[in-house]
Amino acid sequence: MTRVITVASGKGGVGKTTITANLGVALATYGEEVIVLDADVAMANLELILGMEGKSVTLHDVLSGDADVEDAIYEGPGGVKVVPAGISLEGLRKIKMDRLESALEILIESADILLIDAPAGLEKDALAAIAAAQEMILVTTPEVPSISDALKTKIIANRLGVDILGVVINREQHDKTFLTISEIETILEVPVIAVIPEDNEVSRAAAFGEPLVVKNPKSPTSNAIMQLGADLIGEE
Ligand code: ADP
Ligand code: MG
Repeated sequence: MTRVITVASGKGGVGKTTITANLGVALATYGEEVIVLDADVAMANLELILGMEGKSVTLHDVLSGDADVEDAIYEGPGGVKVVPAGISLEGLRKIKMDRLESALEILIESADILLIDAPAGLEKDALAAIAAAQEMILVTTPEVPSISDALKTKIIANRLGVDILGVVINREQHDKTFLTISEIETILEVPVIAVIPEDNEVSRAAAFGEPLVVKNPKSPTSNAIMQLGADLIGEE
């Protein structure tokens, strides 16, 4: 059965899109059929990080009722399949989030794992992305505001019956002002499943449109994401 996993956070700018893109590539390199879907329809970034902007058919067209989702699937780095959201403001005008569900049904048929990059916040678009999945990865930085927003997202996900696989702490730095892993686990009551270091190469890779796990495969950041992928599918 296809696993549908949403990468969500609550707070914006904590690394959801970075993690979705790189985790998708990681899982594809382990031989999984993976589709990454950019459900952040207003602030789409996934296609930029993967160097795949400018595609003719995007999720905007699908959610506007102007295209079939099959035509919005593109081959990305490492063999990951990508459904870009579309980055134009114009494309947002006609979209209806309730068209997402039927699009997902089709995507599920063509993948082992469907990874959804969720929008920040808890508005309609974020709730649609959360409710679409059976499983969730919660992303937070080790800072209090980010953890507070992750907690709200966790509570909503629990109400919707979504299974929270764990927390990924992103942008970890050796800084005493930040919360520790065990403090974060205590607050969120969810296990930490990966710790991803602060790494200047993340934004450099994004600027090149090349995922970090491809550009710098041996870096500690890439290792942490590859390991997260391996853990998710039970690889050694
Ligand atoms: P979100 O999707 O949650 O809004 P992004 O993945 O777009 O977050 O990341 C937000 C910003 O943080 C980007 O500029 C990205 O390059 C940077 N970033 C993400 N993860 C890291 C990291 N581990 N180290 C350094 N910068 C990071
Ligand atoms: Mg994002």
